[in-house]
Amino acid sequence: MKKTEFDIVVIGAGHAGIEAAWMIGNMELKVALITLPNVLIAETPCNPAIGGVGKGQLVKEIDAMGGLIGKITDLSAIHFKVLNESKGYAVQSTRVQVDKELYSKFAEKYLRENKNISIINGKVLKINFLAQNSFEIQLKNENPIYSKATIMCTGTFLNGKLHIGAEQIEGGVFGCDNSDSLINICPVVENSKRFKTGTPARIKKSSINWQKLQKQISEPNAQNFHYLHKDFERFNQQITCYLTRTNQKTMEIIRKNKHLAPLYNGQIQGVGPRYCPSIEDKAFRYPDRNEHHVFLEMEGNDTESVYPNGISTSLPKEVQNEFIRSIVGLEDSQILKYGYAVEYDVIDPTKLNQCLEHKNIQGLYFAGQINGTSGYEEASAQGVTAGINASLKILDRDPMIFSRNNCYIGVLIEDIITNERDEPYRLFTARAENRLFIREDNTINRMYQYRKKLKINQPIDQYQESYMNCYNLLDEFAEKYFYKTNDSINNKFKNNNYGIFDARISLSELLKRAHLDPVKTLLNELNEKKVKIEYKILKAVAISQKYKGYIDKANNEFENLSKLDAIKINWEILGKNERISNECRQRIIKIKPENFSQLRRINGIRPATLAYVATICS
Ligand SMILES: Cc1cc2nc3c(=O)[nH]c(=O)nc-3n(C[C@H](O)[C@H](O)[C@H](O)COP(=O)(O)OP(=O)(O)OC[C@H]3O[C@@H](n4cnc5c(N)ncnc54)[C@H](O)[C@@H]3O)c2cc1C
Repeated sequence: MKKTEFDIVVIGAGHAGIEAAWMIGNMELKVALITLPNVLIAETPCNPAIGGVGKGQLVKEIDAMGGLIGKITDLSAIHFKVLNESKGYAVQSTRVQVDKELYSKFAEKYLRENKNISIINGKVLKINFLAQNSFEIQLKNENPIYSKATIMCTGTFLNGKLHIGAEQIEGGVFGCDNSDSLINICPVVENSKRFKTGTPARIKKSSINWQKLQKQISEPNAQNFHYLHKDFERFNQQITCYLTRTNQKTMEIIRKNKHLAPLYNGQIQGVGPRYCPSIEDKAFRYPDRNEHHVFLEMEGNDTESVYPNGISTSLPKEVQNEFIRSIVGLEDSQILKYGYAVEYDVIDPTKLNQCLEHKNIQGLYFAGQINGTSGYEEASAQGVTAGINASLKILDRDPMIFSRNNCYIGVLIEDIITNERDEPYRLFTARAENRLFIREDNTINRMYQYRKKLKINQPIDQYQESYMNCYNLLDEFAEKYFYKTNDSINNKFKNNNYGIFDARISLSELLKRAHLDPVKTLLNELNEKKVKIEYKILKAVAISQKYKGYIDKANNEFENLSKLDAIKINWEILGKNERISNECRQRIIKIKPENFSQLRRINGIRPATLAYVATICS
């Protein structure tokens, strides 16, 4: 019998798996994407919303790398929001609510159109490591599949257990199968941990008293994620979201049922995401607060299902009914699906290198929630990283290492591989040292160097090339264009509220004036000169000009630090060096840092050790 062979097998068609398979297919390698038969491709088991603070930047980075998430988000978008709009451009992020069925449909459509990707519905039972870069994938009721590399993207499914009150059901997502434990599927990985996440009940749209609630319309001036889509084009009818709040009665109902809460009565052992707390967590961590926002978000244009964002829970069904009906607008609400928590196995990601390949098992990669992260965007970014690097390895090319200096993908990867996680990892802007530079608006400027290295020539590459040319020209123009004193310029400054014109001033200096919005000012100036430039490019130039001084300073500091960070480390030699404390040596041997940057991020490494290593290694 002929063996079924692929270059790479990706296990799991969730958010990590689809990006990994997509990148591999685009690099002209043959890839099998194996996924459970009763789970939607790119299923969104929690709120179907993509982007948000730090995450919007991540989506744009993935898009600039040629990934899928930005494109399919735009195509299925039903509500746009710009977060932190009042706080200045550096920390602004786009958040988009999608129609969850459309999202899956578009993901599947793109994957099926790629001739290098074979989608296989099946359940992986075991991964056998035959030799370096040689794997046998055993499937339930199917012949095995062989590959040179394997990427595990199994999300919340490994040993998945759902909790609704005392009820416990096996499954990775409600209504779906689960998988065996990590150790049984992948015995070469020695240990695993349990994490947990959760979701709220879904409420019937027609049972909500909408008139009582505060409206939030979709923002027409929010830009699309995908670079080849027109900035403000909308592909679907946009919906309105509504805001309500919990109150004293809601929180009292939750507090009096503490003994029935699996999170608080010892039934759930796994640790949940700190930055996405359940309503039980809010009730017990903040006993003095009773008002918490509840955003009511539609799950699609043609569905009755409403997602009440902010009240994730695993309380028993009758308690969910009671507390939800205590909220304004939800007094008569009918529940379509009850909220639940899910516990699942995760690996120790410190066993992975910057390509997300296992340090001891060549050719075995891990991406997504299985690495202890939480979130669709985090999963997608890891899928891109693992997909690209598994392909580069098979093609015998240099790996692609994303730097934390210029992208959130780099921040995310370095953070997860350098410290054992004791809770699910989420990305936010404060995790990046260089966040004034790592913005949504300048993503192409930051990612161009990476995408170019892939040497794939697709429309996105041609776009990036022309973007960069135009950006550089406009940036140079802003530096070199000077307003010279004459009456008409004086009047123009007065009429446009540009401030006093008392000397020769460049366009660049004008854009830096504190009271001016740089984007509006540049747009105004170009309109006056009858110069038409794509809004994305104009915006990126204007904001970069505004922050130039700060960014240059931060970049200089970073460059100095980067020289130190780039120093290669031989962890085996350091692990035997008796000048280093026993505790630090143990941590070094455990994490196996490859460079100084990774070393200094390991918890518990003492400043004296860092100073000593810097001296002997530089
Ligand atoms: C209840 C719940 C609530 C959540 N809440 C949020 C939230 O509020 N916000 C947020 O950002 N994120 C939330 N998440 C997390 C979010 O869903 C994940 O971060 C994201 O889906 C992870 O993507 P992934 O690709 O790693 O895994 P998943 O999307 O879980 O995909 C895993 C894939 O692996 C496949 N698979 C598993 N085992 C096998 C096997 N043995 N053989 C073949 N295929 C297999 C499955 O079919 C599935 O396609 C929640 C998840 C759940 C379950």
